[in-house]
Amino acid sequence: MSSKLPAKAKKAAAKEITVKGTNIVPKWNYSKSIEDPSHIKLKPKYDLFINGKWEKTKKYFDTINPSNEEVISKVAYAEGKEVDKAVNAASKAYDNVWSKISAKERSKYIFRIARILQEKAREFSIIESMNGGKPVRESKAVDIPLSIAHFFYYAGWADKLKYAFPGQNPKPIGVVGQIIPWNFPLLMAAWKIAPALACGNTVVIKSAETTPLTLYKLAEVIEEAGVPEGVVNIISGDGATGAYLVNHPKVKKIAFTGSTEVGKIIMRSIAGTDKKLTLELGGKAANIIFEDAPIDAAIEGIINGIYFNQGHVCCAGSRLLVQESIKDIVVKKLKHRMRNLRVGDPLDKNTDIGAINSRMQLNKIKEMVDSGVAEGASMYQPECTLPARGFWFKPTFFTEVAQSNRIANEEIFGPVLSILTFRTPAEAVEKANNTFYGLSAGVWTDKGSKVFNVLSKIRAGVVWANTFNKFNPASPFGGYKESGFGREGGKQGLDAYVSL
Ligand code: ADP
Repeated sequence: MSSKLPAKAKKAAAKEITVKGTNIVPKWNYSKSIEDPSHIKLKPKYDLFINGKWEKTKKYFDTINPSNEEVISKVAYAEGKEVDKAVNAASKAYDNVWSKISAKERSKYIFRIARILQEKAREFSIIESMNGGKPVRESKAVDIPLSIAHFFYYAGWADKLKYAFPGQNPKPIGVVGQIIPWNFPLLMAAWKIAPALACGNTVVIKSAETTPLTLYKLAEVIEEAGVPEGVVNIISGDGATGAYLVNHPKVKKIAFTGSTEVGKIIMRSIAGTDKKLTLELGGKAANIIFEDAPIDAAIEGIINGIYFNQGHVCCAGSRLLVQESIKDIVVKKLKHRMRNLRVGDPLDKNTDIGAINSRMQLNKIKEMVDSGVAEGASMYQPECTLPARGFWFKPTFFTEVAQSNRIANEEIFGPVLSILTFRTPAEAVEKANNTFYGLSAGVWTDKGSKVFNVLSKIRAGVVWANTFNKFNPASPFGGYKESGFGREGGKQGLDAYVSL
């Protein structure tokens, strides 16, 4: 085998020491686990992307790396004037170009976006981790490939809308305004832009305050793909920018992912208009472990459910419901597993838990954790050293949690798990549904019948059995109750972007 290796690789292979069949990785290899960002192309300053051009504004703000608080780039802040410009560009592009070209042509552009993204996947992963704080292992395995998959998936639907809506006449809506959060920037953009374009709409999308960079890199991809000018406009700013977009009279549909609080504001502000709306809001998902569950697999599911992306996940399994008979063993195994989690540099491929996205979010997490302690729950954090600079929080769980505690009810959006117990399946269902939210849930059991029985009674838009946080562009995603309405992904994801 080694004779086929090039000389450089042979030399490296020779350095590996084999002890009783185990490859001990030589020390020099550790530094190679850090992704080198020096070759990543980022501009010191990003203008808005409007009508296929880069537009300067009066105000710029710093976007930082939350793992070291260093400024990465300056980014344009869009005020009402710029939002108006972006919406008008989208409106003109809709009237003059996008509504006139064939579905097949639209599909070609979306495919091109997907393919260019594929070529730049590594660059996008590194930027997503630098700007957002998430482990590069996750952006490489989840964020970027899933974003690409969404563009491919909806490119495929563009010329098949008549099959998606048999007997009906699906037409585009016009200009859509899209507002996204900071936890999965490129992925949330893909979830929104891909179906909107496939259905023949044009787009103005606003990035979240702290994570604009992959959206502007996406703007470069859109340029490279030759998408006609004005079809996708990308802007950045804050809540005021978002509010201008929501209230612009030429915007016919709003797609929002973010907090329940802002979702309610948006709903109120468009009441009385004929704007279409989809909202994907907060969550407080129950992850239910029955005594017959494969325990070690369930432990991995708990870890992935709550510590994936530092818990900055609206569908995170933040309420663990464990059957009382196995609580002690689950807690013991969980502690053991948590001691092996590596918290640190998001660009280190061995990192499991990266940086908290912002100081503001870190303060929110701390405040919620303090409330848990004050209300009498018992906290566990593994020993680990946190970097001196940046925003960090140790993976945490609470036992002795009462259903009335804030940590059992409110979304923490951080690496903090609340553990509650139950005795019977009926009690598990009752506790799982005892929430204002209804975005996701998980069930771990050996019995298929129990999966169907329990999951069919849980009011959540997405339910996982013996797994957690698994996504696929063909599966619809969305919530009930205060988690919002409308579905993104799958054939159902087309509904919001057509008028019938
Ligand atoms: P989070 O708590 O996760 O930051 P937010 O709901 O505050 O969630 O923000 C999600 C997105 O909504 C961001 O892009 C933000 O700028 C935007 N936003 C905040 N307030 C408003 C508003 N009043 N109208 C429209 N968009 C808003």
